[in-house]
Amino acid sequence: MKFDTKVVRAGILPDPSTGAIVPPIYQSATYVLEEVGKDKGYDYTRASNPTREVLENNLAALDGGKYGICYASGMAAVDSMMKLFTSGDHIICSDDVYGGVSRLYNNLLVNYDLSFTYVNSSNPQEVEEAIQENTKLIWIETPTNPLLKVTDLDAVGKIAKKHGILYGVDSTFSTPALLRPLEYGADITMHSTTKYLSGHNQIIGGVLITNNEELSEKFKFIQKTVGAVPSPFDCWLTLLGIKTLSLRMNRHCENAQAIGEFLESHPKVERVTYPGLPSHPQHDIAKEQMDGYSGMISMELKGGIPAGIALMNNLELCSLAESLGAVETMITHPATMTHADVPKEERLARGLTDGLVRLSVGIEDKDDIIADLNQALEKV
Ligand SMILES: *Cc1c(COP(=O)(O)O)cnc(C)c1O
Repeated sequence: MKFDTKVVRAGILPDPSTGAIVPPIYQSATYVLEEVGKDKGYDYTRASNPTREVLENNLAALDGGKYGICYASGMAAVDSMMKLFTSGDHIICSDDVYGGVSRLYNNLLVNYDLSFTYVNSSNPQEVEEAIQENTKLIWIETPTNPLLKVTDLDAVGKIAKKHGILYGVDSTFSTPALLRPLEYGADITMHSTTKYLSGHNQIIGGVLITNNEELSEKFKFIQKTVGAVPSPFDCWLTLLGIKTLSLRMNRHCENAQAIGEFLESHPKVERVTYPGLPSHPQHDIAKEQMDGYSGMISMELKGGIPAGIALMNNLELCSLAESLGAVETMITHPATMTHADVPKEERLARGLTDGLVRLSVGIEDKDDIIADLNQALEKV
């Protein structure tokens, strides 16, 4: 089955009891046994649920994996995965990793005696140099949030394999439509399904995908033990969103390319970062391992914080909102919005400069998005 067919069909069979073409929302906590020891494959929804199972099978198939395990959020997926490790273990992580992940690592998991080294994984040599005797996981995000750094997944995969270290990839920005990390040696692919996979700003969710049966059994065990599971309704909404993933990603990519080129030529913009532009430092790697460059753009405005505020307050179509990967174009200015509480020095050290703006390009007509950016940039 080709990818565009999989998004609509993989793992989705007519409902066995009614023939319903859309998997029903099995909004039930428990299941009645026919007799002692005889169930129909389900006993309690924390452990398994028919609607969730359809979503898990569909998501696994999209990433070329055998097993998918869904969680109540992307962060619940990461936290559940981290329960594989025990005190004393060391983890190597991309330095521009999603802020929620570094918050989990640096504020909670350090209390369980796990240690973390952050490296610029765009340079695979830095990953190898950070390996210690107790390193148990290499955690890569590509492209990263918000600086859109791209990592050569094949190169890091070879390093992980050589040293016998588990290799996980947060592929939220790429989606399986554009990149499938398991093909590059990853043991685990993770997505925040909140973003492009569901695609309509309607749910919070996450998934871990693997081909390793032993890992999948551990994840299932953690899922039912911890219980950070998505509701059947959220699973159903996510399934509905996924059906148009290929169509949406095509449009996100097409729009972002045009908008990236427009911004790059605009006099009030110092620099544009988009993996689809030849000016992106890892453009060649992105071109090789991805089937498109997704819809995330970051840019540096001339004029720092006042320029950022002026742009934000003059936009009419683009929504000032956290989150990304949905049909609506959304924009954030980290220095005054998502990272306003981070001390300035720390913020700058992470590359989150005063004029940095992150754009999640939606699927509206690109001319309307460009016209809105243009009129707001004129007022900067
Ligand atoms: C949003 C996001 C997460 C966290 O997912 P939630 O569903 O918000 O918990 C993790 N990684 C990346 C790259 C994200 O964009």
